Amino acid sequence: MSRSPSLPDRPTLDLDPESSPRERLQALKAHYSDILEVNRELERQLTRIQDRRAELREKVDALQRENETLKTASLYVATVQDVTEAEEAVVKQHGNNQEVLTEISPDLADTLEMGDRVAINDSFAIQEILDDETDARARAMEITDSPAVSYADIGGLEDEIREVQEAVEDPLSHPERFEAVGVEPPSGVLLHGPPGTGKTMLAKAVANHTDATFIKMAGSELVRKFIGEGSRMVRDLFEMAARREPAIIFIDEIDAVASKRTDSKTSGDAEVQRTMMQLLSEMDGFEDRGEVRIMAATNRFDMLDRAILRPGRFDRLIEVPDPDATAREEILRIHSERMNLAEDVDFEALARRTEGFNGAQLESLTTEAGMFAIRDDREVVRMGDFREAHEKLETEASQGRPPYTTYIQ
Ligand code: ATP
Repeated sequence: MSRSPSLPDRPTLDLDPESSPRERLQALKAHYSDILEVNRELERQLTRIQDRRAELREKVDALQRENETLKTASLYVATVQDVTEAEEAVVKQHGNNQEVLTEISPDLADTLEMGDRVAINDSFAIQEILDDETDARARAMEITDSPAVSYADIGGLEDEIREVQEAVEDPLSHPERFEAVGVEPPSGVLLHGPPGTGKTMLAKAVANHTDATFIKMAGSELVRKFIGEGSRMVRDLFEMAARREPAIIFIDEIDAVASKRTDSKTSGDAEVQRTMMQLLSEMDGFEDRGEVRIMAATNRFDMLDRAILRPGRFDRLIEVPDPDATAREEILRIHSERMNLAEDVDFEALARRTEGFNGAQLESLTTEAGMFAIRDDREVVRMGDFREAHEKLETEASQGRPPYTTYIQ
């Protein structure tokens, strides 16, 4: 703490009553110049104090701003679906897809447009329109409080479900069992296998069953869209998970950031390397990871840098294969559960005929069959519709069109 500067002595005037007028005049002049000197010194001190006060005021302002920021509750990210004439907006919250109608505050009324991404508070009031950078970073992660996928929605992966339960669900739900036995649960679980076989579904289902927040980030987006930001995004991802625990981090297409090192020295490769190093250091430094579990998925297991498979990193591998006939039959049943089916629909026969189809393609098959029934103005889906759908998808695949485009991630 700085002390107050000491004040100069106050000048005094002692006039000798015996002195001549001339001597008195000189004494008065000397006294006047003393007073001027003291005045100048006091002015200098006043300026210094005023500068210091301005400095302290700035500090107080900055601390007050920081305090306000710390006190403000987090906001949710949403997309504006519609703006009405009555200055209301329909916003859809990311993650839970809840749509709400909310009033637009007058200061945003002129600028808000359909499609804008916005930050909303607990009462869904729009607080600000997000700029591209905030927006992009928010979009890089998909955060869902409780994904709407359960184990019962996954066909033919009983063994894999059990393995995921042991490796991810049990450590979250019963950490004491691991402590009692004295074993460390797996650090990270890597799901690998061909595309569209249910890897993402498995991760979502385990988040749902453990009431954990599901935080997904796609490796490919990290390197394609967020050039120069990959390692920061990985840091954000782990920070976000720690704030939202219990949480499951799911890194899809991890091969995009964790492929075997190449000798090429392009800046893109350097960026991918940096992102992977950040990921490894987050995993290594994440010893006491509390109620956060890490999962990842890849279709390119062969490409992975073995560094990420070391103990303490992705040390539990679960292969998710293409479905066999029994699994295909189950998947078809799951996806047509809510369909109005004719008696002649024979899933066993369909499963035999769809050798080589993955889960996503089987889902497309059921949707296409439904479309054929609608086109025919029927409310019941028949075996013939499934046959036609099958033919259509086979033809599209043979023409080299991206197969089964109705499959939505
Ligand atoms: P990718 O490797 O391409 O990301 P993935 O293995 O993660 O694929 P999912 O995203 O889990 O695959 O599956 C895509 C869609 O396919 C799911 O939404 C679901 O409708 C369907 N599907 C895939 N596998 C199964 C399954 N085993 N049971 C039921 N539906 C499935």
